[in-house]
Amino acid sequence: MTIKRVGVIGSGQLGRMMALAGTPLNVEFVFYDEAKVSPSSRLGETILPSNENSLDHFINSVDVITYESENTSVELVDKIIQKKPVHPGKSSLSNSQHRLTEKELFRSLGIATANFERVTSFEELEEAVSKLGLPIVLKTTREGYDGKGQALIKQVEDIESAWKKLQGKELIAEAFVNFSRELSVIAVRSTAGEIKVYPIAENDHSDGILRVSRVPANNLSNEKEAQAKEFISSLLSKLDHIGVLTLELFDTESGLVANEMAPRVHNSGHWSMQGAYTCQFENHIRAICGMPLGSTEMSQPNAAMINIIGKNGDSNRVLSLPNAHLHMYGKEERPDRKIGHINLTSQCSSDIERDIDHLKDFVTECGK
Ligand code: AMP
Repeated sequence: MTIKRVGVIGSGQLGRMMALAGTPLNVEFVFYDEAKVSPSSRLGETILPSNENSLDHFINSVDVITYESENTSVELVDKIIQKKPVHPGKSSLSNSQHRLTEKELFRSLGIATANFERVTSFEELEEAVSKLGLPIVLKTTREGYDGKGQALIKQVEDIESAWKKLQGKELIAEAFVNFSRELSVIAVRSTAGEIKVYPIAENDHSDGILRVSRVPANNLSNEKEAQAKEFISSLLSKLDHIGVLTLELFDTESGLVANEMAPRVHNSGHWSMQGAYTCQFENHIRAICGMPLGSTEMSQPNAAMINIIGKNGDSNRVLSLPNAHLHMYGKEERPDRKIGHINLTSQCSSDIERDIDHLKDFVTECGK
């Protein structure tokens, strides 16, 4: 097997886990670290952009380039693709960066979304309220994450404060979706067009931040499972996407409704490091390096992931459990910061629930 060199734009925990999964495949990593976050820094050369030559040095050091964030600059990718392939490609990246374009893409593929309206003025917001009805979720079209850049309008009195909070940016007003739970589907597509889909995760959030993912989603009907797989497969093919893609979904009585996609490995797929035959990070690297994909099936019937947020917590509590794996990212403690996660696997879902309960300090207190 020849050595491949992968460049990663960013050097946070996602790049770190790509390197941890890709290194056994004779893949070497170079990180281009614009944000200077650096959990990946010990796993490959890290280039800090200091002058015009830094980018050329990065491009010349690698065979193929990927990125950690959907907010990666399209201009930067434009420069790189003159010289080296970037996967996932520009179309996956730009569609994921704009909530309106993204929802229009979903609709064009028959993927259900909340009804939505573009809002650029207070008058347009009032019109959107009369068209969509209340409640409404008002969001910035760009750069919102973990519930940031959003305002909920429950009643007419909330319209003005929502506008004051978000005005000045292009906005999207979305009808409020009455969902029973949030799900995500993660899939990978190879350079040969082969697609493999991971089992669907059920995700618990609090304060807009993912806390726990459980896989497979409890009692998901075959119809909904097939629907999720169809949604993501049509997106992968339409975008000619190479690598991992994640689609976040709301589960509703009338079917699945897509919220947003991310052209990358995702927090709700971290369970796959222990719970699947091939984890999302390895499959992403296989895909972008032109290798055959690995199985996305579960290696045990049940898996879960608990995010470690804000504080390290008592790691011995995790290490003393036979089915638990600790993954720390080498990041400093800070409120609301994802600094690690715990993976649980088991033959039996009740064991998983018992372990989540045993580790509940991580789920509740560490985030505060
Ligand atoms: P987002 O930044 O789009 O992922 O939204 C953050 C969270 O806000 C989601 O995980 C949902 O819990 C909630 N949310 C977003 N959009 C809607 C919507 N249209 N209806 C109901 N809840 C929403």
